Amino acid sequence: MKMNSQVAPNALFRKLVQPLIGLCFMGLASNASALTVTVSIPPLAGIIAPLLGPGDELNVLLKPGLSPHGFQLRPSHVKLLQDSDLVITVGTPVDGWIEKPLQLVNKVPIAMAQMANVERLALRQGGLWENKHLHSDEPQHSESDSDEHEVDHHHEKAIESTHLDGHIWMSQHNAKQMVLVVSQQLQTKLPEQKKVIQQRTVDWLAQLDKTDQRIVAQLAKVQSEPFLVLHDAFQYFEHHYGLNGVGSIRFNPELAPSLKRVHELRERIKSGQVACLFKEPQFPERRVMSVVSGLDVKLGSLDPMGTSYALDKPFMAYDAFLQALANQFSSCLTSSKVH
Ligand SMILES: [Zn+2]
Repeated sequence: MKMNSQVAPNALFRKLVQPLIGLCFMGLASNASALTVTVSIPPLAGIIAPLLGPGDELNVLLKPGLSPHGFQLRPSHVKLLQDSDLVITVGTPVDGWIEKPLQLVNKVPIAMAQMANVERLALRQGGLWENKHLHSDEPQHSESDSDEHEVDHHHEKAIESTHLDGHIWMSQHNAKQMVLVVSQQLQTKLPEQKKVIQQRTVDWLAQLDKTDQRIVAQLAKVQSEPFLVLHDAFQYFEHHYGLNGVGSIRFNPELAPSLKRVHELRERIKSGQVACLFKEPQFPERRVMSVVSGLDVKLGSLDPMGTSYALDKPFMAYDAFLQALANQFSSCLTSSKVH
C-alpha cells in the first residue's frame, strides 16, 4: 500500500497507462486490481490501512500536526476526492468540511456516523465540562484567522444541535464496525481478492482485540485518578476503559480560555482534585500553561489524531494509536508525582 498525502506520481502513471492495460486484458479480468482510497482524518487511515493490498493507494486529507477543527479543503483535495474509488469520513461536524466538496464531485462516502450499530455518546455537561452555556459570558478571543473562526463557530453550533460527541473514531467498537464495512466494500470492488481481504480482516480484528485486552490490564490501576483534558475528545476511550475524566479547558479547542475559566480550573487543581492535565500537540501550549503554572499537577499529552506519536508518517496504525493514548494516561495518572 502506498501512503500519500498528495496525489502520487504513480496515480498519474496509472491514469495514463491503466486504460491501455485494461484494453489488453479486457475480458480476462476485472480492470480494477488496485484502489485509490481517501480518508478525511488520520485515525480513519489507521483503522482501514491493514485491509489494503500493496498496490492500493491511501490518501489522508488532514495533514499531521493539524486539528480537524477549523480545517478547510483546497481545490487539489477536491480533485483527489474525484479520483478516489472509496472515500471514508467520520460524518460528524468534526470533518464537516468534506461534505460540500463531496457533493461537488458527486461522491457518497462511507461515513462512520451512518453505519449501523455505531456507539454514540452525548456531549458531557456540568461540573468542569465546559459546554455551550458557558460561552455567552466569555469574550471571544482567538489566534486563528477570521475564516477559521467562522468554520469553528459553525462546528460548535452543529454539535450543539445534535448533542452528539462527534469524536466517534475514539470508540474501538466503532472502529471495528468500520473495518467490517470497508472490508465488505473492498471485497465487492476487488472480487478476485476476496479471500485475501477476508483474511486480512480476521487478522486485524484479532490484533485489535489483543491490544484492547492489554490496555484493559494496563489502565485498571489508574481508573480512579481524576484528570483534565484540553478539549473533550477522548470520551469514548475513557468510557471504554472506565477512566475518571473530570473536565475540559475548552469546549472549542481553537479558542483560549477566559480568565474566569482559568481561575475556576486553578481552584480545582489547588484543592488537589486533579492528578493530571493533558495538553494536545495541535494547540498552543500556553492554553494549558496558563492553567497550571505554579501548581502541583502533572502534565501529559493526548493526541486525538495520533500523528504526533508517529513522526514523519501521515497516520498511525489504530492499535498503536490506542496503545500510545493508554501509555500517556498510565504514565501521567500513576500516583507518584514527579516535580
Ligand atoms: Zn475535537
